[in-house]
Amino acid sequence: MEKKAKAKRTVSLENYGIKNATVRYQLSPDELHKTTIEKGQGVEASSGALAVNTGEFTGRSPQDRFIVKDKITEDKIWWGNINIPFDGDAFDALYRKVTDYLSNKEIFVRDCYACADENYKMNIRVINEYPWSNLFAYNMFLRPVEEDIKRFEPEWTVVNAPGFRANPDEDGTRQHNFAILNFTKKIALIGGTGYTGEIKKGIFSALNFILPVEKNTLPMHCSANVGKKGDTAIFFGLSGTGKTTLSTDPNRSLIGDDEHGWTSENSVFNFEGGCYAKVINLSRDNEPEIYDAIKKGAILENVILDKDGHVDFADTSITQNTRVSYPIHHIENIKIPSIGKNPKNIFFLTADAFGVIPPISKLTPSQAAYHFISGYTAKVAGTEAGVVEPVPSFSACFGAPFMPLHPSKYAEMLSKKMIDAGVNVWLVNTGWTGGPYGIGKRMELKYTRAMINAVLNGDLGLYNYDDYHIHSVFGVAQPRSCPGVPTSVLSPRATWNDDEAYYTTAFKLTNAFRNNFKKFEAHCSEEIRRGGPQRYAF
Ligand code: ATP
Ligand code: MN
Repeated sequence: MEKKAKAKRTVSLENYGIKNATVRYQLSPDELHKTTIEKGQGVEASSGALAVNTGEFTGRSPQDRFIVKDKITEDKIWWGNINIPFDGDAFDALYRKVTDYLSNKEIFVRDCYACADENYKMNIRVINEYPWSNLFAYNMFLRPVEEDIKRFEPEWTVVNAPGFRANPDEDGTRQHNFAILNFTKKIALIGGTGYTGEIKKGIFSALNFILPVEKNTLPMHCSANVGKKGDTAIFFGLSGTGKTTLSTDPNRSLIGDDEHGWTSENSVFNFEGGCYAKVINLSRDNEPEIYDAIKKGAILENVILDKDGHVDFADTSITQNTRVSYPIHHIENIKIPSIGKNPKNIFFLTADAFGVIPPISKLTPSQAAYHFISGYTAKVAGTEAGVVEPVPSFSACFGAPFMPLHPSKYAEMLSKKMIDAGVNVWLVNTGWTGGPYGIGKRMELKYTRAMINAVLNGDLGLYNYDDYHIHSVFGVAQPRSCPGVPTSVLSPRATWNDDEAYYTTAFKLTNAFRNNFKKFEAHCSEEIRRGGPQRYAF
């Protein structure tokens, strides 16, 4: 008997104002991979992964991220240069332009969801101009089972038109690219940029508003994994500090590498279904799990390939922010579903290019709140004219660009949860040792891993006075020894061999901490303020 071909479900985009589109609905990763190559928008690397260039933008554009000011948002959002207001009528007009632009085109549509915990699930429909952006959505969001697709009701919609260019004079944007969130219409409208990270961070920003306001859940810019005994660890940190690298640990099951919610039911869940790793200088020796995740289905962004399709991970001629996205099951040891219990340990990762923060230290609850609100890391300035000076960078809650509410809202929730759950909080400097950027070098990954393992195995208890020493500037508890790490590495001052230079630089950084914290002082208790560095230069 002949098998009846199963009628493939499709969707119409007419209701979205996208007319006469040729809709490619829910294509498989293979089909999207193939289509991208056929259109000349990508090539296959020797690993089997798809390699694309994202175009003009190879990173997010925070100055072009807007939120529509409406009844839902006007009194709640922390408006300013992070959350830039956008007029509702201007949004409608721009939306019409974008949907006109997408009309009569071949359009890639994907139904998926965010939040691995059933109780928090948010259905998303992603509408893409390009097939590889749609593959990104497949990789990064959670993938519904066939049954759920049949009766899928989207809650939020992402409309993604990289080829569309806004006209700032008419459209109310800053320049030709934009990412705008509309909470009334539940739309993330992205145009003029092909950088895929805008798609995932758009939904992240929406959840960072919805979860605390409506669901009493703390959204976090952190990675998470769980040990064999079910002990969850989470890692906060700004871009490049090691969230993805350090959460991908062969001995612990990965929950997620970037965005999580901490519920009032003592659990932590991943928002996403995939990882988005930096690949600059990636090597199989240092990061085998991520290296091996780069295979068919993965998308490499803005890397340089040789004629045989081999990637040169050291080549940053397009950008330093070369990336790969892959569905989480490309990593062997993962937690299914992506949910863990209350964390036992929280790590704040910082890439301190001044090289003065200890590579690992334990924080008191006040220090934890202070450092969370500060959200410190350092940026390494360009090497022009041979001047290399690190620049301190503070981003509240280790993710200010994605946080629509006032940082104190997230900080209060975190403080309360940390105390209720009795978590240990650690500050980890994955940045420089032996001196600042230009003189010292980046902390060896194997040492950072050893320090984190020591914490997770309970080998860095710091219960006895003899086990640690209180850092004279930062006031944090610095362990005197750690299995697998040379003792000298644990004291940043000792690695400098120049006490005067060390303290001068440390004071420079503490002054930056203090200046940054001024704007939060009015919102913070004396206890939190006491969590800051102990000494400043005058
Ligand atoms: P994003 O938020 O942009 O995804 P991230 O916090 O996930 O950033 P990673 O992708 O983990 O950051 O990037 C950390 C980078 O630093 C990697 O390229 C890693 O190889 C490198 N690295 C070098 N030394 C260390 C170290 N000691 N600890 C962690 N990462 C290190
Ligand atoms: Mn990451």
